[in-house]
Amino acid sequence: MSENCELCILDRINHVFYNCDDFIIMSCDSCHVPMAVTHEHIDPTEKPLLTTEEKNKYLKIYKNMSNQLYIAAYDFFGDFNFYIDKKQRKIPNHVHWHARKLNEALCGNNLFSVQRNNWKILKQLGKAQ
Ligand SMILES: [Zn+2]
Ligand SMILES: [Zn+2]
Repeated sequence: MSENCELCILDRINHVFYNCDDFIIMSCDSCHVPMAVTHEHIDPTEKPLLTTEEKNKYLKIYKNMSNQLYIAAYDFFGDFNFYIDKKQRKIPNHVHWHARKLNEALCGNNLFSVQRNNWKILKQLGKAQ
């Protein structure tokens, strides 16, 4: 927990898609799309300092967080037209990922493969046919 970190404090929560001990998936206050945030102040820029035990713990959290974010995104967008954006621009030192709508102009030929990959993941999770 860091007192100056917006993502540790999370004082404006509108809609919650999912919540557990490790992370929350909520509607991002500025982007209005599903956003996953770890409850713990995990700083991805500090990677080299982690012990093996910590690394394994975080990998487990990330795997589960990714799965739940796919499910939230599928519910939210209603189709496979989205991608998981793990780039952290505004707050680089606390793990948070967005699920954003796919932009046809940006993706071009990649569009179909991203949609197909989304479908595969959601099928594995038992959410899509
Ligand atoms: Zn934080
Ligand atoms: Zn956002």
